[in-house]
Amino acid sequence: MPEYHALSGKVPFGSMVRVAIAGFAGAALLAIGYTYAIVYIPLVYLNLLICIGFGCLVGWFVGSSARSGKVRNVTFVTVAGFISGCAALYCAWAMDIVARLGRIEGVEGVHFTLDPRIIWNYIVFVNERGFWSLRGHTPTGWELGAFWIIEALIIVGAATLVPNGMLRGRAFCEACERWIDNEHDLLRYEHGASDAVVATLAAENVAGLANIPCVHGPSGDFLRVDLACCPGCGESNYLSVKSLTSKVNKEGKVEVKEEDVVLLQRISAAQRDEVRELSARAAAAVEAEQNAAVQEDADSESPDTDTANEEPRDPVS
Ligand SMILES: [Zn+2]
Repeated sequence: MPEYHALSGKVPFGSMVRVAIAGFAGAALLAIGYTYAIVYIPLVYLNLLICIGFGCLVGWFVGSSARSGKVRNVTFVTVAGFISGCAALYCAWAMDIVARLGRIEGVEGVHFTLDPRIIWNYIVFVNERGFWSLRGHTPTGWELGAFWIIEALIIVGAATLVPNGMLRGRAFCEACERWIDNEHDLLRYEHGASDAVVATLAAENVAGLANIPCVHGPSGDFLRVDLACCPGCGESNYLSVKSLTSKVNKEGKVEVKEEDVVLLQRISAAQRDEVRELSARAAAAVEAEQNAAVQEDADSESPDTDTANEEPRDPVS
């Protein structure tokens, strides 16, 4: 039976503290920038982008501190991301009092507070009067509340999903205590070859991949073979297969969807070398084919570009 990589679940104690500090500090600092941007840039569509960026950045703080702290636990970073997202949202509301009321002339005595009763009273106060207008309409009550719920879901959702994505699918070498970088795109196969590729790998017959014809070219539809090999010990080697499907979205841009077909199957050092060997052969075949095509073009154009009879040009003139 093939063996697949699973993170050990270890959370070094020092890293736990580090992730908590990064999460809360990131949430507080970014909340200041977010609130002032939202208050001073009254463009709803831009606000949406800023909101997504805010949540993603908070999540990135958590994810990168977890990665550098060698946290090998996806659940831990996901929960840390969620808590940081909630903290970010709370800080943004606390900052909102200062940023929004501070702009109004004649309003004095506004100071920063984290007191939940004051923040709640402020939310109720603003909800009754409205926050902003869009095309002459000022949403209040439930209508405004719905916008705030969407905003909260985006911030907390992004802060939760980003660090989860930063750890999921990544391999860690426990012997060397280090993350392993992924090497992308060693081999490509047609989608039709999916069953053959999966069966070959399920039989742990990596050499058998040589019997399945490779593809190449610019199309975004193929199966892609990736490797993750520890450069420290050379013993932690994993192979993944991703399915890439491209389609044109509503804006006319090509979107490529990536799905896991095989995720981090453990392979031996010899099998790793076999994959690299196959990859080198496939690349050489592509190059030979391209050279042949270039040669063919040159041959077909040669009667028109016959330079042999031209007068040699004087470089000085
Ligand atoms: Zn290693």
